[in-house]
Amino acid sequence: MSSTAGQVIKCKAAVAWEAGKPLVIEEVELAPPQANEVRMKILFTALCHTDVYFWEAKGQTPMFPRIFGHEAGGIVESVGEGVTELKPGDHVLPIFTGECGKCSHCNSEESNLCDTLRINTERGVLLDDGKTRFSKNGQPIYHFLGTSTFSEYTIAHAGCVAKINPAAPLDKVCVLSCGVSTGMGATLNVAKPKKGQSVAVFGLGAVGLAACEGARMAGAGKIIGVDLNPDRFNEAKKFGVTDFVNPKDHNKPVQEVIAEMTNGGVDRAVECTGSFQAMISAFECVHDGWGVAVLVGVPNKEDAFKTHPLNFLNERTLKGTFFGNYKPRTDIPSQVEKYMKKELELEKFITHSVPFNEINKAFDYMLKGESIRCIIRMDA
Ligand code: NAD
Ligand code: ZN
Repeated sequence: MSSTAGQVIKCKAAVAWEAGKPLVIEEVELAPPQANEVRMKILFTALCHTDVYFWEAKGQTPMFPRIFGHEAGGIVESVGEGVTELKPGDHVLPIFTGECGKCSHCNSEESNLCDTLRINTERGVLLDDGKTRFSKNGQPIYHFLGTSTFSEYTIAHAGCVAKINPAAPLDKVCVLSCGVSTGMGATLNVAKPKKGQSVAVFGLGAVGLAACEGARMAGAGKIIGVDLNPDRFNEAKKFGVTDFVNPKDHNKPVQEVIAEMTNGGVDRAVECTGSFQAMISAFECVHDGWGVAVLVGVPNKEDAFKTHPLNFLNERTLKGTFFGNYKPRTDIPSQVEKYMKKELELEKFITHSVPFNEINKAFDYMLKGESIRCIIRMDA
């Protein structure tokens, strides 16, 4: 039993008070975990573009003050009533979408969309009592994705916490808690390219580069990286990308450029941008007869997808996925093992690192397109 179990913890958290304004490191209060909840000490966290969208709140519902962050690694501090599979001291990755283990989705081999714990970007409270656990001077502070990892301590539902090998370095494997698993799974579990096939990946951030890595692992013949940022191509070569297309370099739609490069279209496309135009291009660039496109990017609230129905009649398939269809508690520990056995390289996704009190720099790096993943060190 830790000395803090059952007590309110005072800790530092990066609070977003207003949309698009720098986060402020504040001392906040974190209540003890309630039934089925886990309180964790976060050691490392990283910034994912999903945090940035909801912080900017341009095309998303604003909810402030809020503590963002969902890609992280930590150690269990204490657990609430009814938690049997986790105990203080366990090394864990909190995951933005959960696995209750009992519902029809958790029992289906095809789905990771748990009935109760699936991703919910609109919820700023925890499920047990519909309240927040964070507060400052009595004012509640909203949670984000049920994880809120931009804090020295946080609380998540036990179904959203994957227990991993304690020997795994948390400053590396934390990227498996969102970006890398999402992109790799989108290719390997959903797009499922066959050996020798061509794959186009839209958006070459951490998620897209992980999708490229998945394509490389599947033995894809041609991997076409599509990005508006020309600096991404050099980086992308390390992830198996063979060809680069910058839509800005062409005066016709990128789907036509790709069709010309591939004799009628790619076999698989994975969209990792969040731009609905890119989502449409990703669908329309797959080959008729067998092509499959997978959407991963998080769209704005009001976005709509428009394409001619004939594109479907011509036997193209459109799919989408959260977290690469991985079940967080069942599948993620073995992804960590793959890293430990050197079957998975994570270092190349990590381009920057900052101490917690410089967390706003991580936002700058992402917004300028300079970083793939920036690790935020909580103890520094
Ligand atoms: P990132 O900002 O690091 O990378 C996005 C890349 O897309 C950038 O390099 C950018 O230049 C490029 N891009 C933007 N618009 C483009 C366009 N129209 N055409 C081509 N390239 C374009 O972001 P990330 O952290 O890698 O996340 C990528 C996307 O995946 C985001 O939308 C994020 O919200 C989403 N996401 C989804 C899930 C999921 O489970 N479905 C999980 C994590 C992240
Ligand atoms: Zn994410």
